[in-house]
Amino acid sequence: MTKKIIIIGGGPAGYTAAIYASRAGLNPLLLAGYQPGGQLTTTTLVENYPGYPQGILGPHMMEQFREQALNFGTEIKQSTVTQVDFKKTPYLITTDRLDTFLAQTVIIATGSQPKWLGIPSETRLKGRGVSSCAVCDGFFFKDKDVAVVGGGDSAAEEALYLAKICRKVYLLIRRDAMRASVIMQKRVMSRKNITILWNTETQEILGREVVEAVQVVNNQSKVVNQISIQGFFLAIGHTPNTSLFKETLALDQLGYIQTKPDSTQTNIPGIFAAGDVQDFRYRQAITAAGTGCMAALEAERFLHAEHAA
Ligand code: NDP
Repeated sequence: MTKKIIIIGGGPAGYTAAIYASRAGLNPLLLAGYQPGGQLTTTTLVENYPGYPQGILGPHMMEQFREQALNFGTEIKQSTVTQVDFKKTPYLITTDRLDTFLAQTVIIATGSQPKWLGIPSETRLKGRGVSSCAVCDGFFFKDKDVAVVGGGDSAAEEALYLAKICRKVYLLIRRDAMRASVIMQKRVMSRKNITILWNTETQEILGREVVEAVQVVNNQSKVVNQISIQGFFLAIGHTPNTSLFKETLALDQLGYIQTKPDSTQTNIPGIFAAGDVQDFRYRQAITAAGTGCMAALEAERFLHAEHAA
C-alpha cells in the first residue's frame, strides 16, 4: 500500500514532521535509522530548547519526541534506508531489512554526522581512546587526562563535560580564536582543569594498543610537542547524511540538500528535506524541529493539491 508520507530520519526534524503529519491524519511511516534520536542522543544537557527552564538531557528529550509522535499514530520502524528511487511516483524506498515502501511524498531528515581528522592513527586507535562522543565514552577516562580537538560549540560542550570527569582537558584549537558562542567560550575559559592550546594542530595520536599521547604542532612557532593523554575526542564539525540522495537530489557544494527559499521543497516535487541535512548554518534542535514542521505542512499541501488536480 502506498503511504501518503514517509519520513526518513528519527531526530528532532523527523519526529516533529511525524507529529504534524499524524495530527493531520496522514498516518506517516517514520524510518528512524541506525541512530534513533539523532545527534541529540549523544549530547548532554540541552539548555536552549524553549520550555525546559532547567534544561533537559538530549536522549530524554528525543524519547519524549518519539512518544509524542507515537501517541498521534505515527508508525515507527527502526530500519535504515539503503536505497531510494525518486525517478517516478509513487517513490520507492528500500531498507537494510530489504523491506520496500511506496510513498506519495517523502520527508528527508537524515541529519549529519561527526567529521574526523583523517590521520591514520585516529582510525587505528578508534575505540581505544579515540572517540567522537564524550557523553558515550567520557566515563572510561575518569580522573585521566584527555584532549578535545575543535573550537566550536560541540568542542566547548565536550570539553566541559569531560572536565567534570577527567583530571585535565586540553582543548586543541587550530586558530587564535574559538568559533563557539560567547557563553560557551566563557565557561571553557573559566574552568580550571581545561587548558586551551591556541594555533595548535594534531599531527599524530600516539600509542601502540591504546592512546598514550598526542603529537601537536604550533602552526605559528612550528614547535612540536607531545602531550601525555589517555583519551582523544574529535569535535570538528559534521558531514550531512546525503550519500543516498546525491544521484537524484540537488546538493550544495558542502553536500547539504538544497531546498527552495523559505521552503523545505527539494528539486523533486513531493520530496522535502528538513533539519541538519539541509541546514549547515543553524544546526540546532529547535531549527531542525521548525523545518520538520514546515516539511509536514508542505507535504500536506502538496497532497491536497495532487488530490484536487
Ligand atoms: P563548527 O563547525 O561550529 O566548529 C567546528 C570547529 O572545529 C571549528 O573550531 C573549526 O575550526 C574546527 N575544525 C574543523 N576542522 C578541523 C580540523 N581538521 N582540525 C582542527 N580543527 C578543525 O561545528 P560544531 O559541531 O561545534 O557546531 C555545529 C553547530 O551546532 C554550530 O552552529 C553550533 O553552534 C551548534 N551547536 C550547538 C550546541 C548547543 O547549543 N548546545 C552544542 C553543539 C553544537 P575553525 O573555526 O578554524 O574553522
